[in-house]
Parts: sequence; C-alpha cells; structure tokens
Amino acid sequence: MQIHLDAEKCQGHNRCYALAPELFDVDDYGQAVLLDDGEIDPSLHDKARLAAANCPEYAITLTGD
Ligand code: SF4
Repeated sequence: MQIHLDAEKCQGHNRCYALAPELFDVDDYGQAVLLDDGEIDPSLHDKARLAAANCPEYAITLTGD
C-alpha cells in the first residue's frame, strides 16, 4: 500500500497526525506532511486507512493493497 498527500487540498485540521503520528507530521504552518512518502509498512495499513477516512478534505489517498 502507498500513501499520498495532496498538499493543495490539506487545510491543516491535523486529524491525520492525531490518528496516525507514525505516518504524519505537522509543518510550521499547521499543514500535514508525510513522514515517508510512498510504500508503507503493513503494520501501519489500518492507521493509514483510518487517517484517509477521517480527512475532511479528502487529501489523503491510498493505492495498492
Ligand atoms: S486530516 Fe487531511 S486536511 Fe487535515 S491535516 Fe490531515 S491531510 Fe490535512
């Protein structure tokens, strides 16, 4: 599974960081940033799905298995 973040859509609610701090950080402007763009460890797939489902701006997308 790969995770992608559309910085144009992100409005900085930081729900993703609250739900999955292993995958996201927050920059100096309050916008989310991915800690590691691309393939994510299988142990974090559930958290990735949770973060994507809870982003009100639909800025997080997942691809692959
Ligand atoms: S939940 Fe979505 S809009 Fe909010 S900071 Fe994360 S990526 Fe950005």
